[in-house]
This record gives sequence, C-alpha cells and structure tokens, in this order.
Amino acid sequence: MALLTVEDLHTYYGYVHALKGINLQVNEGEIVCLIGANGAGKSTTLRTISGLVRPREGRILLGGEPIQTVPAHQIVERGISQAPEGRQVFSTLTVTENLNMGAYTLGGDKEAIEENRQRVFSLFPRLEERKNQLGGTLSGGEQQMLTIGRALMARPKLLMLDEPSLGLAPLLVKTIFETVRAIKERGVTILLVEQNARAALKVADRGYVLETGSVVLAGLAQELLQDERVRKAYLGER
Ligand code: ATP
Repeated sequence: MALLTVEDLHTYYGYVHALKGINLQVNEGEIVCLIGANGAGKSTTLRTISGLVRPREGRILLGGEPIQTVPAHQIVERGISQAPEGRQVFSTLTVTENLNMGAYTLGGDKEAIEENRQRVFSLFPRLEERKNQLGGTLSGGEQQMLTIGRALMARPKLLMLDEPSLGLAPLLVKTIFETVRAIKERGVTILLVEQNARAALKVADRGYVLETGSVVLAGLAQELLQDERVRKAYLGER
C-alpha cells in the first residue's frame, strides 16, 4: 500500500481553480518530485496535503486513512511535515530554539526532543556549530538547512520540501540535494517540489509533471529525464 495517495484533488482559492483533479502516490522509502512551471499548482498540492488549504473535492490517504478533513496540526502528529518555501526561520530565536519549535508534537518529552535534535545535527553539522546563533544571522543556505531540520524534528514518515534549492548558489544546491538523499537513506519518505527539474529528477525515484493544476505526465525519474517534452519544457533543451 502507498504511504500517501492523492485522489482527484480539487483546490480553489476563491474562484481560482488551482488544482483540477490531481492524482498521485508516494510509496514508502521513495523520493517523489513534482515539477512544473510557476503557478502550475505544486505548492498548492503540498499545502492541501498539509491541511493548510482545504480541498473542495477529492481524498488524501495516509497509510490508507483519509486525512483531507484532519486539522493541520494533527496531520503533523500523524507523520507529515512540510518545510515551507522561502526559508521561514524565526529570526530572533536561536538555532536550537528554532528546531525545538518543530518538536511541539512530542509534547514536553525532553529526551525525545534532545534525541531528535542530535539526529538533525548529525545530518547538518553546520547547524550544531551554530546552535546558539540567531536564525536571522544565518546564511541563506544555513537557513534552508534549519527549515528542513525543523520539519524533521517531528520525526515525520513523509517529509514535504517546497523548493529547497530556491535562491541558493550552485554549490549549496548540490549540498541540499545530497542532504535530501541522506534523509531518504535514514528512512524518511520525501515529496519534493522543485523548479530545478534536472536536479530534482536526478535525486528522485519518480516524478509528476504539473501544468495548470493537472498532472500531465508521470513516470520514473530516469524516464522523465529522457522524455523529449520534459527536456524541452523543463530542462532548457532544444
Ligand atoms: P510557484 O513555483 O510559482 O510557487 P506553483 O506551481 O507552486 O508555482 P501554486 O503556488 O500552487 O503554484 O499556485 C497555483 C495557482 O494558484 C496559481 O494560479 C496561483 O496564482 C494561485 N494561487 C496560489 N496561492 C494563492 C492564494 N493565496 N490566493 C489566490 N490564488 C492563489
């Protein structure tokens, strides 16, 4: 059974029909990426799964259980965490305090929080070196690591990453994608949204291509990398 199944999902913002019947699946242990142009509905798909926006129609199943009406905080408790687009760190809190904010689902269990923090620090040694530094004084790449680290503090089964490489220098983009792979190797399933289609497809097992709120193409990442339509529209090839 798939870890996550999205069936015929329709989401509106007022009159804007942003998702027009999205279907997708994420199996345990996979990295699945969503690619598509600006406005295709990638972020809206993640936000609908997270419970931040409500679908008007369709179902979202986590381990077979419908969650499309479950409140956002309970969706985190059930095992889905999202690292939002745009490195949203708390600038006046330290790195450690920022990470702790991601652990609210653990209640006050200090031991579990400490253990998770160590797990995050082992993935991002840079964050450990800067654990007492204020979030707002970190570099862009470090803030991105902190955003991902905070999402991991809830020990998700499914981690959703929205544009983790956005605005980062090429070397850092490489680091972030290596980290995505390392997170998968630790047993976390990943749903990744990226403008950087090439890098995303290289790290992913499977991918879905979105255009104006619909899935227009789906397949193994290796196949999508070779697909002529994908190459022309998303990989900048003629
Ligand atoms: P991007 O890469 O630019 O973030 P995206 O594929 O993630 O694009 P979405 O952000 O999901 O696309 O947007 C899908 C559609 O919904 C777009 O037409 C967008 O203008 C619209 N939309 C997104 N957020 C809102 C909002 N809060 N209110 C109204 N319309 C919105």
